[in-house]
Amino acid sequence: MTAKFDVINPATEQVVDSVRLVTAEETDTAIARAAKAFPAWRAVAPGDRARLLRRFAEAVDADLENLARLEVLNAGHTIGNARWEAGNVRDVLHYYAAAPERLFGRQIPVPGGVDLTFAEPLGVVGVIVPWNFPMPIASWGFAPALAAGNTVVLKPAELTPLTALRLAELAHQAGIPQDVFQVLPGKGSVVGQRFVTHPLVRKVVFTGSTEVGKQIMAGCADQVKRVTLELGGKNANIVFADADLEKAAAAAPYGVFDNAGQDCCARSRILVQKSVYDRFMELLEPAVRGVVVGDPGDEKTEMGPLISHGHRAKVRSYLPEGAPIAFQGTAPDGPGYWFPPTVVTPSGVRDPLAADEIFGPIVAVLPFADEAEAVTMANDTDYGLSASIWTRDVGRALRVSRAVEAGNLSVNSHSSVRYWTPFGGFKQSGLGRELGPDALAAFTETKNVFIDTEG
Ligand code: NAP
Ligand code: MG
Repeated sequence: MTAKFDVINPATEQVVDSVRLVTAEETDTAIARAAKAFPAWRAVAPGDRARLLRRFAEAVDADLENLARLEVLNAGHTIGNARWEAGNVRDVLHYYAAAPERLFGRQIPVPGGVDLTFAEPLGVVGVIVPWNFPMPIASWGFAPALAAGNTVVLKPAELTPLTALRLAELAHQAGIPQDVFQVLPGKGSVVGQRFVTHPLVRKVVFTGSTEVGKQIMAGCADQVKRVTLELGGKNANIVFADADLEKAAAAAPYGVFDNAGQDCCARSRILVQKSVYDRFMELLEPAVRGVVVGDPGDEKTEMGPLISHGHRAKVRSYLPEGAPIAFQGTAPDGPGYWFPPTVVTPSGVRDPLAADEIFGPIVAVLPFADEAEAVTMANDTDYGLSASIWTRDVGRALRVSRAVEAGNLSVNSHSSVRYWTPFGGFKQSGLGRELGPDALAAFTETKNVFIDTEG
């Protein structure tokens, strides 16, 4: 009996495809194949492994429009975002394609011999991907893992398997052996769980909710399995009185409503200095009402639908009768999991509107008195992924950047992700860092070898 999953277009509620779900037994078979493929893959000459990854990157580039359209269909991402996401996969592959020939060890002076270190691949790496950014998040795991000489099994989110399946086809067309990179669509509780418990999977890379991330970490402890976790966020956007308020207000909606707020880096708490609070709200209202929500395939659309019926119900549950809604933007009627951009003014940082990762287009605005209070409020959360600081004072920008307990800060900007800079969370937002120059270290073990030369 093989189960299938109907993939639904969240903008139309139409079934776009039906994907067979991989079983636990098939997961075990795939892991065994990946383990068998490991010795040959790690033995591929560095320059050849690099060339295969570059070919994979070129195949992604040649298929960019198709991949982007698939994501519009499957995840309701705007076409502009989806093109960026496919391009990000290409760039991440190119970046880590430069790694195999540069995976240096060290030679450390010792008496009586020579001491060398090697960066050894781990073996089979299991990558578990959420539905919010199916393409980029997959590549942040598989690209450095493959570059370092590991084989990869990857589980896309049940809701969004289509682009991952296409990426596997492109990898194989580019010459990467089938068993070196396998995509296994299925349930987290089945396929994902086997990555955690199967002894031949030597590392799990997980992106998703903090709740499931804790279970993954606990499960991996049993085998002291390596783990990288990218979890939730409730990120502060701190606007000081001396900021360019017009610019801060114009940018704020895009810092939180991009991807309909389904972004672990969404700046979903706007902290505004009291003296400019009223003025900021005046400027924010037209900016929020101006966000273009609609058909994600339309070039002019800035925000699409939420991912699923169930997720929209969860987002909606945060706005019961009498919720402190300041103002809302628009959203289409009719089929599709639409939700309008919404600004709320909860009474404090502990209000669920200000504390929970809602993962939808709802942003909380809260006033603060001074710099010290802004930092206290920004840090009054178990999360610590990202934050933005709007000020013209360079000293304050750096002081507050250092004081906020988060992994990714931006000043007078909301950008968090560049493939060549490190990305990850403090506190319960995660463990380890992805991307950037050091990500290879998370996919290798350091081996130290001493050679006696006195002999
Ligand atoms: P999730 O449950 O954490 O799912 C993320 C991935 O983990 C999916 O592939 C999921 O599989 C898999 N999974 C679930 N349970 C598992 C288990 N026991 N063992 C191994 N793998 C497992 O996230 P979600 O349910 O999609 O979203 C819930 C909330 O998490 C969101 O509302 C948001 O607050 C947060 N979230 C954060 C991020 C982020 O980027 N940090 C991303 C997504 C969600 P299935 O496909 O079967 O679910
Ligand atoms: Mg879940």
